[in-house]
Amino acid sequence: MDSTQPLRPQSERGTFDLIPETYGRSVAGTALEVFLPPQKPIQYLLLAAHHGDEPETTVLLSTALRSILPAQLASAVVLAVNPDALARGTRGNLNGVDLNRNFPTKDWSPAPVHHRWHQDSDPRAVALSPGSAPLSEPENQALVALVKRLQPKMIVTFHAPLACVDDPADTPLGRLLSDMTGLPHVADVGYATPGSFGTWAQEQGQPLITFELGHESIRDQRTRLEPAVLALLRGEI
Ligand SMILES: [Zn+2]
Repeated sequence: MDSTQPLRPQSERGTFDLIPETYGRSVAGTALEVFLPPQKPIQYLLLAAHHGDEPETTVLLSTALRSILPAQLASAVVLAVNPDALARGTRGNLNGVDLNRNFPTKDWSPAPVHHRWHQDSDPRAVALSPGSAPLSEPENQALVALVKRLQPKMIVTFHAPLACVDDPADTPLGRLLSDMTGLPHVADVGYATPGSFGTWAQEQGQPLITFELGHESIRDQRTRLEPAVLALLRGEI
């Protein structure tokens, strides 16, 4: 990794130097945006806010993206896979669908999806829908088309708050991200996730790592995680 590359002057990091491309529309008609590197092929596809109640994933990726020089960008970046939910603070999209249970996998299930309302000790009591059918949601339809078009060598999808690098294929990149961040390297999150994006990617032969942020403040996590995110953005690892 070349950590000697210059960063953008801090005074300029308030805004984006790159203009994102629209790759689809959400349920509410919101533009689904991807930042693309100037040169091709791309290294990684980095995704934040597939769940709208995980805004720290967007902040982490956004601040890192605004810290590098535009010409250094080697990966594609989606700051909000689920922008309507991010704007409203909900986990699911405007149809009440958990987008991470809506992919056309062998194990997709029409059963409701439950998650915790508050702490990890709470029962999984809040119900969302997995969608009326696999890939029923426009945000996921657009994402699948984007993945097929870009064919990244790895997808890194950011979630919270399990604090781990979920790398079912046990890849060198997953181990390196774990080493760089101190987050444990795990092979699964310990519960069934029918219709998940990760399972879909696995069935497609598309490498994918889930990068789970933890419980600390976003400021503390930025300090610890940003070097790894900068390296992913610049394709240095
Ligand atoms: Zn999530």
